[in-house]
Amino acid sequence: MNNECIFCKIIKGEIPSYKVYEDDKVLAFLDISPVNPGHTLLIPKEHYENTLETPVEILQHMTEVVKKIVPGILKAVDADSWNLGVNNGATAGQVVFHTHWHIMPRFANDGHGLWKGKEYEEGKAEKIINKIKANL
Ligand code: 5GP
Ligand code: ZN
Repeated sequence: MNNECIFCKIIKGEIPSYKVYEDDKVLAFLDISPVNPGHTLLIPKEHYENTLETPVEILQHMTEVVKKIVPGILKAVDADSWNLGVNNGATAGQVVFHTHWHIMPRFANDGHGLWKGKEYEEGKAEKIINKIKANL
């Protein structure tokens, strides 16, 4: 637990939330500012800052819980598509530094786009793949 962390406060019940699912390792609750109705955040009960800091056993359990709860969330809001989003680091849009996965139901014409792709410049992909391989 981190006393300054807003999600730790939600786990402790110091800040109220609409709970979707809870077990001994994780909590899922409605995002206070949903991109669409049913937008749910899934968090580990232990405080870890981001995905890479979270033990693989917890991430595995989070994956299992995603598979368990997503069908019910989609049914509740009459959606058949959804995005799983994870912002890691401030530059990537992470605001709360307690690992969380966004489960976001999607609807036709909901105003949310996809990531915009851009082409590699000549030779850049080869350079990057070599650098990645050297760093793995
Ligand atoms: P991030 O940008 O860090 O990936 O996402 C943080 C998310 O937490 C945002 O979507 C924001 O709406 C949500 N959030 C922040 N504070 C609260 C809160 O007190 N309660 C709930 N339910 N969600 C929160
Ligand atoms: Zn926390």
